[in-house]
Amino acid sequence: MNLLVVGAGFAGASYARTLAEAGHKVTVIDSRSHIGGNAYDEIDQNGNRVHRYGPHLFHTNNEEVVKWVRQFGEWTQYEHRVEALLKDGRLAPLPVNRTTINTVFGEALANEQEVDKFLQHLAIPCDSPGNAAEYLYSKIGSTLTDLFFRPYTKKMWLMDLEQVDISVVSRVQIRHDDEDRYFPNDKFQIMPVKGYTSVFENIFDHDNIKIILNQQFNKSMLIDYGHCFNSMPIDVYFDFEMGELPYRSIKFHHRSLVTAADWNSSVINFTDDGKFTRETAWYLLPHHRESRSAGYSHTLEEPCDYKDNAFERYYPVKTADMRFQKIYKKYAELAEKLPNMNFIGRCGTYQYLDMHQVINQSLIGAKKWLSNQAQ
Ligand SMILES: Cc1cc2nc3c(=O)[nH]c(=O)nc-3n(C[C@H](O)[C@H](O)[C@H](O)COP(=O)(O)OP(=O)(O)OC[C@H]3O[C@@H](n4cnc5c(N)ncnc54)[C@H](O)[C@@H]3O)c2cc1C
Repeated sequence: MNLLVVGAGFAGASYARTLAEAGHKVTVIDSRSHIGGNAYDEIDQNGNRVHRYGPHLFHTNNEEVVKWVRQFGEWTQYEHRVEALLKDGRLAPLPVNRTTINTVFGEALANEQEVDKFLQHLAIPCDSPGNAAEYLYSKIGSTLTDLFFRPYTKKMWLMDLEQVDISVVSRVQIRHDDEDRYFPNDKFQIMPVKGYTSVFENIFDHDNIKIILNQQFNKSMLIDYGHCFNSMPIDVYFDFEMGELPYRSIKFHHRSLVTAADWNSSVINFTDDGKFTRETAWYLLPHHRESRSAGYSHTLEEPCDYKDNAFERYYPVKTADMRFQKIYKKYAELAEKLPNMNFIGRCGTYQYLDMHQVINQSLIGAKKWLSNQAQ
C-alpha cells in the first residue's frame, strides 16, 4: 500500500521504518526543512553539537525501545545531572536531595533517616492533594516548594502551582538520599555518539521510504494514499472545530564563551523570577564538542506561549481541572470516525511524551495496524 506519514520526528520515523520493513511504500512529509522533529541536532559555528529544540536526554527502562534505536547508530552511556542556581549564587543538586536540603537550610543532615524526619517537620499534610501546590507542600513543605518549583512553574507554564496538575511536578523526584542523577530510575541513559540527526538518517535509509521536506500537509494529498499516520496537531487538522489546544513554547537564546564554563553539570536551572528557566552548556554533553578550535556554545531557554513563537508547539498544557484534555478527547472521538487516518505522537495525541514513550507507542501502533491489515 502507498502510505503517508506526516512528521519526520520519532513518531513518524518509528511508523515509517516499521511499515517500510513490512513492504509498504511510505512517503514521509515534514513542514520543516529537516528530519528529526524536535530531537533534531546540528553542529554550530563553534563546532559544538546543539539540539535545536532544547537538550534531549534519552532515558528509559524499555529494553525493546533501546534495542530498536541501537540498530540505527552507536549510543554511549550518559547519566544526566542538573544543578539549580540559588539567589545567592550557590549551586545545589536538582532533583532535591540530601545535599540540596543541607545547602538550602544550612543543615548537616547525615543520612536518609535524618532527611525523612526533617521533611516530616516541613511537610503540610494533605490527605488527597488536588493540585501541584498541595502535592508538593505535603511532601516537602513551603520553603523548598516556593524555591525550586513555584518560580519555575510560573515561568514555564504561566500558571501558579495551584492551577497545575500534579503529574506535571511529580515527574521530578524528591530524594532523601545522595542520588543526584536526573533519571535515577532508568536503566538505560544513553546519548547517540553521532547525534540524533544521524540516527534519523539511518532510520529513514530504506528503499521503501521517501522523504519530502518543506512540505505542509493538506487534505488533498490523501487521495494518493491508502492510509495516513499523522503527527500534526489534531486541533489544526479539524480546523479548531472543538476549540484550541494550547501549548507552551520556548525561545532559545544562544551565547558563545571563549573558555569553557566551570560547571559540574551540562544544565543549570534558575530559581529566580527572571525570564529564563535553564541554560545548557552543550560541550559538557558527551560527543558534543566536535571541533577543538572554536568557542563554547550555551543556550538559555525562555518559555512563552506558542503563538509568540511562530506556532512552535512544545508542551501540551495540563491544568488541574484537565480542561484541555477534555477538548482533546472530543477530537479523539472525531478522529475515530476517520477510516484511513491515525493521529500519532506528541501533537497528534496532545500528550507530553518523552522520546522513548513516543517510540514505544509508535512501534506498537504500527505493528497493530499491520496485524489488522493481515486479518
Ligand atoms: C524543549 C524540549 C525538550 C525535550 N527534552 C526531552 C528529553 O530530554 N528527553 C526526552 O525523551 N524527550 C524530550 N522531549 C520530548 C521529545 O521532543 C518528543 O518526545 C519527541 O520529539 C516527540 O516526537 P514526535 O514525532 O511526536 O513529535 P515531533 O518531534 O515534534 O515531530 C513532529 C513533526 O511533525 C511535523 N509537522 C507538524 N505538523 C505538520 C504538518 N501540518 N505538515 C507537515 N509536517 C508537520 C513537525 O514539523 C515535526 O517535525 C523534549 C521536548 C522539548 C520540546
